[in-house]
Amino acid sequence: MSSAPTDAARNRELAETYLERFRKGPALHLIAGEAQGSKATFDNLRPTDNSVLGQIARGGAQEIDQAARAAEAAFKVWSRVPGARRRELLHEIADRIEARAEEIALVESSDTGQPIRYMAKAALRGAENFRFFADRAPGASDGQSLPDQDHINYTIRQPIGPIGVITPWNTPFMLSTWKIAPALAAGCTIVHKPAEWSPLSAVLLAEIMNGVFVEAGLPGGIVNLVHGLGEEAGKTLTEHEAIKAVAFVGETTTGSHIMRQGAATLKRVHFELGGKNPVIVFDDADLDRALDAVLFMIYSLNGERCTSSSRALIQASIYDSFTDRLAERVKKITVGDPLDPATEMGPLIHPRHAEKVLSYVGHAKADGAAVAAGGERAMDGAGNYVQPTLYTQARNSYRVAQEEIFGPVLTAMPFEDEAEAVSIANDVRYGLTGYIWTRDVGRAHRVARDLEAGMVWVNSENVRHLPTPFGGVKNSGIGRDGGDYSFEFYMETKNIAVAFDSHKVPKIGNKP
Ligand code: NAD
Repeated sequence: MSSAPTDAARNRELAETYLERFRKGPALHLIAGEAQGSKATFDNLRPTDNSVLGQIARGGAQEIDQAARAAEAAFKVWSRVPGARRRELLHEIADRIEARAEEIALVESSDTGQPIRYMAKAALRGAENFRFFADRAPGASDGQSLPDQDHINYTIRQPIGPIGVITPWNTPFMLSTWKIAPALAAGCTIVHKPAEWSPLSAVLLAEIMNGVFVEAGLPGGIVNLVHGLGEEAGKTLTEHEAIKAVAFVGETTTGSHIMRQGAATLKRVHFELGGKNPVIVFDDADLDRALDAVLFMIYSLNGERCTSSSRALIQASIYDSFTDRLAERVKKITVGDPLDPATEMGPLIHPRHAEKVLSYVGHAKADGAAVAAGGERAMDGAGNYVQPTLYTQARNSYRVAQEEIFGPVLTAMPFEDEAEAVSIANDVRYGLTGYIWTRDVGRAHRVARDLEAGMVWVNSENVRHLPTPFGGVKNSGIGRDGGDYSFEFYMETKNIAVAFDSHKVPKIGNKP
């Protein structure tokens, strides 16, 4: 379906109106309900041409300390707000996100380079995250009843305290709400440190949330936002004694740093890290649908997606025909202005990331893979555009089959049978998701069981159902989000034992 050119022009014009405020002065922190700057700032670039979209306040130890103390003070109030009231306020946040969904989508698309066709949905998914956890707020502290002969034991859950939320640049708005909504529903307060390469939608989110709390007569420090670099603001946040847990989404190596940084204060950590996810296509599958899914799960969202299936394992009997069809479709992907609804792939986030993604062309060739499509800059070298790329004739030991490239790059490998498919799929340090395409029901269940992954989809792309657990194994993460799993992280479980009758306690110090 081709879109009217006027849609793109309208989007560009509207986006400029929304971005104007970020050109006028630096994007500020929000600490204890007040917008606040820092002495230093850093540039925020527009991925289409790397022009400066605006300056961002560069927070450090001082701003993090202020924000953590504000979150600590606000926790005393917010943690005691009844669940039913928290539900109302989180729905109000969702209403306001929906009311500003177009603004959020246009700002985020301009800031990240992600096509507007996906960002429009991501903004609404942010609202959905708030609604989903809003409805669970009243029951979040519910526990179990575990009676024995003499006691009634029961558990309750209580919010753990102020949370440090650290997010990446790929789909920042949706990912931030995925962490912040359950934390608030649980009764926790927040210090959010967004990624330095796409910090703008975090400003909108903080503004919306803070507006709701302040109008409700609650303290400003329930949600705090501190911009800055990972090694400065991010590091200090993970080390701060007032922060009780860190919810982190980002690279595996950063996760290791955070674990080390948080060790002295015994931080509880939740990590959603990198992936190198396999999609396995057996020769009995619905091959048309499988082809659509293989394309969608790597080239949508510019391939900058943790759950992308960047390794396609294709049964040898159909490998040539399937990869031929794949290459044909990859060459037809519409690369262009992310604000154009017709665009299927936009520019990558940053010049350094584009360089990294392109460097794999050399690695692929040196290892012996063939470049079946792409492998070069796109849009005449403008901004951070790279072509959607397909490597074939690859082996699983090649760097393009083992390392997370986090771009629009697919490595296709053949396998002979089920056992080999599982063995190749698991021979990687990551374990976030796996995708299986087959019509053999028994095989689908066997392979799903045997894949080393936190999540498996059979005959489907990644479709989220919010009550289900989300997270990875191996180097892809620690812990699960979604439904009640989120509350397990943001809350402490307490056991209370009450004797049915005054308990007959063994006597000591009772010599006649
Ligand atoms: P990154 O790890 O470089 O940065 C993520 C965040 O961590 C940023 O806000 C950054 O400033 C901060 N940070 C960096 N160093 C830090 C430190 N020492 N202490 C504290 N904070 C620090 O990741 P990225 O490049 O922004 O994002 C891409 C990565 O995110 C990919 O690996 C991708 O797979 C992963 N990701 C995972 C999921 C998931 O659900 N598993 C979702 C999205 C992205």
